Amino acid sequence: MTPEERERALAQTRIQDLRSQIAEHDTRYYVLDRPVVSDAEYDGLMRELRALEQRFPDLVTPSSPTQRVGGKGSELFAPVEHPSPMLSLDNVFSTDELRAWLGRLQRAVGGRVGSPPAQPAAHHRGRAWEPSQGSHVNGNHLDFACELKIDGLAVSLIYQDGVFVRGATRGDGRVGEDITANLRTVRAIPARLSGGQHPSLLEVRGEVYQPVSVFLRLNQELTERNERPFANPRNAAAGSLRQKDPAVTAARGLSFWCYGAETNAGRPGPARAQRHSDDLEYLRSVGLPVNPNIERASTLEQVAGYCAKWQAHRHDVDYQIDGVVIKVDRYQQREDLGATSRAPRWAVAYKFPPEERTALVKRIAVHTGRTGRVTPYVELEPVHVGGVMVTSATLHNEDDVRRKDVREGDTVIVHRAGDVIPEVVGPVLEKRPPGTPAWTFPERCPACATPLVRKPGEADWRCPNRKQCPSQTVEWLCHFGSPEALDIEHLGYQTVTALVERGWIADPADLYALRATQLLQLPGFAEKSAQNLLEAIAASKQRPLWRLLVGLNIRRVGAHVAQLLAQRFLSLDAVAAANLEDLQAIEGVGPEIASAVHDWFHDPENGALIKNLGRAGLRVKDQARAGSVAARPFDGQIVVITGTLPTLSREQATALAQNAGARVTSSVSKKTSFVVVGQEAGSKLAKAQELDIETIDEGEFLRRLGHGAPPETE
Ligand code: NAD
Repeated sequence: MTPEERERALAQTRIQDLRSQIAEHDTRYYVLDRPVVSDAEYDGLMRELRALEQRFPDLVTPSSPTQRVGGKGSELFAPVEHPSPMLSLDNVFSTDELRAWLGRLQRAVGGRVGSPPAQPAAHHRGRAWEPSQGSHVNGNHLDFACELKIDGLAVSLIYQDGVFVRGATRGDGRVGEDITANLRTVRAIPARLSGGQHPSLLEVRGEVYQPVSVFLRLNQELTERNERPFANPRNAAAGSLRQKDPAVTAARGLSFWCYGAETNAGRPGPARAQRHSDDLEYLRSVGLPVNPNIERASTLEQVAGYCAKWQAHRHDVDYQIDGVVIKVDRYQQREDLGATSRAPRWAVAYKFPPEERTALVKRIAVHTGRTGRVTPYVELEPVHVGGVMVTSATLHNEDDVRRKDVREGDTVIVHRAGDVIPEVVGPVLEKRPPGTPAWTFPERCPACATPLVRKPGEADWRCPNRKQCPSQTVEWLCHFGSPEALDIEHLGYQTVTALVERGWIADPADLYALRATQLLQLPGFAEKSAQNLLEAIAASKQRPLWRLLVGLNIRRVGAHVAQLLAQRFLSLDAVAAANLEDLQAIEGVGPEIASAVHDWFHDPENGALIKNLGRAGLRVKDQARAGSVAARPFDGQIVVITGTLPTLSREQATALAQNAGARVTSSVSKKTSFVVVGQEAGSKLAKAQELDIETIDEGEFLRRLGHGAPPETE
């Protein structure tokens, strides 16, 4: 192998690894609303992937996360196709990167940034800026709208003749989730636009968010009620919108900022605006809440000044912002610049760096997690970082502690990127008391005293006592009951610890044999709470197979891989029977994941656990669904649905067709495979007849699908 071939092979392996890590984080972030790494860490993985793909362009695939919008719809909601794609944004992380981005734009439009006729950034009161005059739009000069990047959930709102008729999440950018009922409860979203004439179809884009003050109050209430608090306002907003009960959404105090719009007749506004800034004025004038902190800028200095100002003042507003969005203002230039499959070229997000504070280390300790990994962490004198009280922070692994040389008694810099576990950046050496000894990694597991093992080439120390280490057992059972796995309400850390200590549960199957008489012996339990927990445990038996797979605690199997396995094999027995080749044949499952799954299912103790879970009545099989890989009768077909169908709503029919692999489009063309026709079908039926495209009724549609019911929700 030549050095180049070797480098390429290494890159290929790393690319595969990065893509599977990113897919896992995407599922946790977009589908489960429960990220486990900070945005900065996630962005780091994406940057590494992008750099490798730039070095080896032939390794880029259309499904790579660098090529598409992250996120997908949950089956809880009907899918809706967006009139035009809802894209993501490319990121810059420094003024240098911002300058490079502006330079690229400048070259692309053959224009200039920071040269006459530069308009001063409008420091407005209450209004973004005065609408531009036609005369200002001359030459190739670039100017920008600088907006706050609100950390909430992107939504598309459809107004028909001024009336709000449908709202959707971004989903994968092409198809989102229909969350109209929930969005109707958000007071900042007007049910009807004010003023006289409105476009027949106006699509408004914006961000639904939870105000920080509401987030803090609700989290306090949840903690007082012993319920799980939300990680951050973004997760709270997403979790509140992406659940089925509008009353729950209504109680979560959500709000909305609008940042753009599209219409069926060109741009909105009476005069067909040429600039985004004019549209924002129009949107404001018809009662949509446009953020008042938007400013126009024409030079790098102005743009960078806006970024710096808001980085310093990010906590001065009652909504979480994670950066600034810079957008080319003129539509003609936007069109010239275009977009990639993932993001427009005419906009960029300047991301704020993580927030940092100093704190005193009281103690350095280690904790054994559910996979046996032993993680060092510091206990801190409480400190506020990014609006949250922090009392501990992670140090990742032994090498991290050594590299940073953190010691007990040190003052350390702690950073918290948005949400997840805060991290120690390093000690402030000038503040170290003289004679402070270095910290050494313990040799034994703090929970079971088993000597720890660190394999050559691995970064982590592990407790090898997988089956009997109480810390691993407690962590595994907590994970089994967590919302991303079997979602067992009322099964908290303390309850699990008490049950494990008494020897009543040692693996998940034991949970299903628990009795009320046992629970009543635990501190804090009464008739009602015991009953609630037993009901929650019983309810968890019906969770779909992929959740059970997540709960089994198989190394490298998170929600994303579990979904791939469940879709492919449909039953736990079939996953257990799969050989390495079967497993690796799944797109997204590499050799390391395949062998982790294979090894797990070939351990006899795990075989016994699977049997016991089946006996306890858990759902170890998914029904073959239209959405599963095994049954996609419309794969590759393009389908149009028209008219009123006898039993299915348009959304249900669309969902069924899409789950069966079809692309559902709104107009008939030569490429259309067939048209599903209901009553009062009009021009689409005529067009299908003209082009000699097959037309079928609902009965035939359902027959081809192989079943007659709307899609299962989970
Ligand atoms: P993004 O959040 O970086 O940017 C696009 C989004 O910005 C839009 O969809 C919109 O919702 C929002 N936005 C807010 N204000 C806006 C404004 N004024 N104008 C236009 N858009 C505005 O991109 P993304 O694709 O939604 O998510 C990618 C980012 O999400 C990553 O960079 C990472 O930070 C985070 N992420 C984190 C994890 C994790 O596990 N921590 C996983 C996936 C994604």
